[in-house]
Amino acid sequence: MLLKHKLRALVAGAAMLAAIPAMAQQNTYKSDSTVIRKFYDDALTSYESYENLRFLTKNIGARLSGSPQAAAAVEWSRQVMEEMGLDRVYLQEVMVPYWVRGDKEIGRILSGRNGSQEVNILALGSSVGTGTQGLSAEVVEVQNFEELEKLGKKKVKGKIVFFNRPFDNRHVVTGAAYGGAVDQRGGGAVAAAKLGAVGVLVRSMTNDIQDVAHTGNMRYEDGVEKIPAAAISTKGADELSAMLKNDANLKFYMRMTCETRPDVLSYNVIGEIKGSEKPEEIIVVGGHLDSWDVGEGAHDDGTGCVQSIEVLRLLKAQGIKPKRTIRAVMFMNEENGLRGGRKYAEEAKAKNEKHVAAIESDAGGFTPRGFGFDANDQQYAQILTWQPLLAPYGLHELNRGGGGADIGPLKGQNNVVLIGLRPDSQRYFDYHHTHIDTFETVNRREMQLGSAGMAALVYLISEHGLNGGSAKAGK
Ligand SMILES: [Zn+2]
Repeated sequence: MLLKHKLRALVAGAAMLAAIPAMAQQNTYKSDSTVIRKFYDDALTSYESYENLRFLTKNIGARLSGSPQAAAAVEWSRQVMEEMGLDRVYLQEVMVPYWVRGDKEIGRILSGRNGSQEVNILALGSSVGTGTQGLSAEVVEVQNFEELEKLGKKKVKGKIVFFNRPFDNRHVVTGAAYGGAVDQRGGGAVAAAKLGAVGVLVRSMTNDIQDVAHTGNMRYEDGVEKIPAAAISTKGADELSAMLKNDANLKFYMRMTCETRPDVLSYNVIGEIKGSEKPEEIIVVGGHLDSWDVGEGAHDDGTGCVQSIEVLRLLKAQGIKPKRTIRAVMFMNEENGLRGGRKYAEEAKAKNEKHVAAIESDAGGFTPRGFGFDANDQQYAQILTWQPLLAPYGLHELNRGGGGADIGPLKGQNNVVLIGLRPDSQRYFDYHHTHIDTFETVNRREMQLGSAGMAALVYLISEHGLNGGSAKAGK
């Protein structure tokens, strides 16, 4: 009997011990879920962030690094955050490249057999110009670098190489299709120049067939001739390809007056709420303030910037004093240099700052599906315990692998977790790096779902840390 009693007590005691953290966990869960609900209530009914986007895209507009508009965007975002009454707003100096497009480009197919036809082209960022006379040459079409190599100097010398490998549209996540094609844009000019080509045309990086050219950055290599490189619209690329089959000796005329000028002093813009318990632990939420010089840089990446500012507003509106320090960072020069992201990581390292997590929104202001995480096993396991808090808002995809270009340089510092907001990707490359990436294409609600989702994640990390330890402990 005695033994039986003892056993019963032991079992009961064990059950109670187990129940205490379970109850504490439930309370934490309840308060977390209430806070998150309020982020969404506020974000979905507020127009402030959307009006910020309107100002950035409509009043300031395209803001390529080094341009007067980029400088205006720095000053504007500093003022917006100053007016929010944050603990600290400051600028971080960074020297950035300054490339200018010059005159509107001319692209023309000249065929003896089929006549001449204008097509839409855009100089690729960092490209040299053609001179004011332009250049015209025969065209050789390839799908990839192997094909180009096989052609060899004999068939490439003196010609324009036309890289025409399309997006693989079987990918459900369009970023994967982009990743599978973008080597042509970045490295096409060097590969072609090594074989004596005089210019490069690259099929625009989009899933769509459009009459819109998509710019983007390219690079040269020391010791390799710098030849002009342009993106051609997908519609133009299909036409050129079809005409080449009919007339292999047709010529292409391209005229671009772009040039690179001396570097310019610019800034990352940073707004901060100091942590109440662990101020030395930092959580970054950010986007990039620069954009390409065509369009308005709305999805890329105006939305990421105003969403990041909105995260701070959402925290303040609830009167939350976050345990850890929260920074909204507007990075400069993501598009053609990444100097802002590198500078930020450099200074973080020099000051021995401890970043717990960095979240970037740079995949468009579309309906968020979740986040991608660059984290270790323990950290990722902890993140998965938050799934029930995020799923009600459509944030179902908490996948491994993620981050963003600007926060990438932080990798490896003090176990920082790098996180990318994952919006629906289907329309992003319709607009990416074009003159049609405008304010009108952004839906306020979709964008605000992203703001609230990031606020939720920032809050959870700030409350519970992200060391992979027990989330129950509330540490
Ligand atoms: Zn971007």
